[in-house]
Amino acid sequence: MVKVCVLGASGGIGQPLSLLLKLSPYVSTLALYDINDITKGISKDLDHINTNSNCSGANADIANILKDANIVIITAGIPRKPGMTRDDLFKINAKIVKNLTIEYGKYCSANTKLLIISNPVNSLIPVVCETLKLMGKFNSRLVMGITMLDLIRANTFLANLLNENKSKKKNAIVNSKQYNKQLNNNNIMVIGGHSGTTIVPLLINKTLLYNEKEIKELVHQIQFGGDEIVKAKNGKGSATLSMAFAGYFFTNEILKTINFDNEESIYSNENNLPCYVYLPDLPNGKFLQDKLKEITQNSELNIEYFAIPVKLNRKSGDINSIDLSCILKNTLSPNEKEMIKVACEALTKDIKTGEDYIKNNSKL
Ligand code: ADP
Repeated sequence: MVKVCVLGASGGIGQPLSLLLKLSPYVSTLALYDINDITKGISKDLDHINTNSNCSGANADIANILKDANIVIITAGIPRKPGMTRDDLFKINAKIVKNLTIEYGKYCSANTKLLIISNPVNSLIPVVCETLKLMGKFNSRLVMGITMLDLIRANTFLANLLNENKSKKKNAIVNSKQYNKQLNNNNIMVIGGHSGTTIVPLLINKTLLYNEKEIKELVHQIQFGGDEIVKAKNGKGSATLSMAFAGYFFTNEILKTINFDNEESIYSNENNLPCYVYLPDLPNGKFLQDKLKEITQNSELNIEYFAIPVKLNRKSGDINSIDLSCILKNTLSPNEKEMIKVACEALTKDIKTGEDYIKNNSKL
């Protein structure tokens, strides 16, 4: 029995995420919560789909929704509207996410994974972790900020670029094999944070692209891919469908580990997928903190949260350790080192914003 809860399930991300989770063979119970009173109807709608999981949902009694959950995903909040500052968005979503985290702390077991999709991830994960610390319920192996969309975009845009380059070549063989858009962590990885210049794409396979201008354009497209969607939606929305897919993809990897015992499981733990985590307590976390000091040549730097590939425990789906191969086995280019430096400066501020919010509103 594996139970997954989506909090914020009636929203632009929550609905398609719930649909994808209803299709996952690894889920047996899907429980939806949202303050919107359409939530019960959405769960009924999904429950008519003849996959084997059961789906229920409500806009009340969150205790019952969270009970016995293996994974809780928070998508609740408000998306950024035109004219709204990042700070405005942060304050509204921090309150929502803090309150839902308190419910998680109250009603979930000591090994329920907590995945955060609500934005701004860079500051909201510190809000979640500080809230749980105050409740005496914090376990850094369980809390993950979902940055998966950045890696999904990186794979898409890199493949598009390589395929475009290939078709431009003279005497290109018609029907020659296309570069695959699917996840290929040997070619590209994305670390850092989850907005703008805190997103750091690392070209792992440096033989793929030589042209500096092309690399810069690719990096920009990955860092600001979200803006491209806001613009294309005429300011009437942000990334929802691709974000839902990214959230589902990451969740499904955890679900595969939980189902690893199952004979029918086809899980392969080859993808060390990135997420935004609290470093100090995790195996290799301190090492990464020191490595960031070295890369940025700033001995004062104290980055406690960072998006980095993690290895999951094959049975519990908890974070086992941080995988540093994208930094250690890969020779970072001067540009990549500079990007990490820029990201760390911005992250320091974003993290402080989240931590201060709880320090100044410490009443739970
Ligand atoms: P996005 O595009 O990020 O999904 P939406 O506004 O479409 O943004 O969805 C956010 C969802 O979060 C909405 O359905 C909203 O009702 C829900 N929500 C807002 N506050 C809360 C809360 N405190 N608890 C649960 N759900 C919430």
